[in-house]
Amino acid sequence: MKLLSEDEVEELRNYIVSLYRKFIPVRALAPEFGGEGEADRAEVLEEELVSLGLETRRLDAPDERAKNNVRPNILAVLRGERDDRTLWIVGHMDTVPAGDVSAWKYPPYGVTVEGDYVYGRGVEDDGQAIVTALALAKYLLDRDVKPSVNLGIALVSDEEVGSRYGLGYLLEKNAFHGWGENSFIVPDAGSPDGSKMIVAEKNILHFKVIVRGRQTHASTPHKGLNAHRLGMQFNIMLDEILHERLVGYDELYEPPVTTCEPTKKEANIENTNTIPGVDVVHWDCRLLPSYGLKDLEGILRTAAYAFSSSTGARVEVQVTGYSDAGEPTPPNHPLVESMAEAIRETRSIKAKPMGIGGGTVARLLRKKGYPAVVWMTCDETAHQPNEYTRLSYLISDIETLLYMLAKTTFKSRLSS
Ligand SMILES: [Zn+2]
Repeated sequence: MKLLSEDEVEELRNYIVSLYRKFIPVRALAPEFGGEGEADRAEVLEEELVSLGLETRRLDAPDERAKNNVRPNILAVLRGERDDRTLWIVGHMDTVPAGDVSAWKYPPYGVTVEGDYVYGRGVEDDGQAIVTALALAKYLLDRDVKPSVNLGIALVSDEEVGSRYGLGYLLEKNAFHGWGENSFIVPDAGSPDGSKMIVAEKNILHFKVIVRGRQTHASTPHKGLNAHRLGMQFNIMLDEILHERLVGYDELYEPPVTTCEPTKKEANIENTNTIPGVDVVHWDCRLLPSYGLKDLEGILRTAAYAFSSSTGARVEVQVTGYSDAGEPTPPNHPLVESMAEAIRETRSIKAKPMGIGGGTVARLLRKKGYPAVVWMTCDETAHQPNEYTRLSYLISDIETLLYMLAKTTFKSRLSS
């Protein structure tokens, strides 16, 4: 079913391009990337929201490293037929740097349109969410169509560095309180056909293994204890133990298993003729929700103890980061079912609720008990040179959301 006429599609394409041209050239880089934050871009976007006829509310997080000493966050709501339900679209204003500019076909901070393609840093990640939300609101406002429930737009800062000043700050301030029952769509990852609805993530564990031996000259190994060899042995052993113990399988996730990968290897010594006394290897584990920090700590400590006592090396495992994924949004939640219905009706495809190993801001929402789906139509070009999206992707996402807000049983399902 097509909801948009050819004229409407043309009108939306023009608006999408003109909106991109307003904010993509206005950089929004975090102080960690040498930028001034999102203040300038937020000003442009807030002005646009106001000119569309939306009331906005700012909830800026203080950050003295950034322009105006703030990391801006903007909330806007278009009232629906019933206003005790709000469907939020969350988009982040910050981007990563352009990277190697010589690898770009077009200027990264210009907006180049070539047929269906739009190029520029941030057009997909996460300008696509911003443009989708604003174009959808404009479409409804221009036609005086009230959505079935409130349409909320949350434009946030600091996603690329950790969301402390962005969505994390909004949740800390209870910013979504007072809008009834809230549901969230986060267009920040997806698939080219728009069938992928991410409803769950894995717990993320980072740790490092420090193996201490005894440094000595390479010609007299008997006087030392080679931490590099022992480190290799220990990490291989640990790899086997982890893969033997963490055998859970859950089809909701892609991949459907817990992953444990040794990643970074720290430099040890400068020269070839010294036996290193210390060996450090970092690991990245993405755990199915049936495994938590406690389970892993137990396995790691036992392995380190056993290896230390049999070899004389001192093995220490340090957890360097842990992030709980929160409860998945159930695939039969009204938000997920209504989205699936809208996807089916507007594209004739079957949507697939799924879990991923990567971390998105949706985990912050789920941890607070809010239902959240990460979804958009994209080729996943984020962070790459020549980042692009396609106008047709945005149009179909707007159409799907329009269907969801206007036609699905979303309203009745939420109240049942
Ligand atoms: Zn993003």
